Amino acid sequence: MKQFRIHKDDVVMVTAGKDKGKIGRVLKILRKSDRVLVEKVNMAVRHTKPNPQIQQPGGRLEKEMPVHISNVIVQCPACKASTRVGYRYIEESRDGKTNKKRVRFCKKCNEIMAQGGKKK
Ligand SMILES: [Zn+2]
Repeated sequence: MKQFRIHKDDVVMVTAGKDKGKIGRVLKILRKSDRVLVEKVNMAVRHTKPNPQIQQPGGRLEKEMPVHISNVIVQCPACKASTRVGYRYIEESRDGKTNKKRVRFCKKCNEIMAQGGKKK
């Protein structure tokens, strides 16, 4: 499986395209196409017709479009800067056993970053 350095719920900044410089939270990772959906970034407006069968009113529907993973950079929650993400192993003791656990860390401030998808 491909390893993505960006995880769901990470905060990223867009580095290319019309939304360059925008910061948002990752809503979804699209592994097959190497793209991510970022909250309020790369919005596209779709005009929809009213559909009484599903009680959907017509109008404008704004929707995030995927951004290529190479066009976003992770923002470190600790130092609040664009950064590169590294991986390292930490030892974690649980039930008397020591396990090695892989964690992500910020290459700028060395803070361990939360794994995506987990609530704090
Ligand atoms: Zn940092």
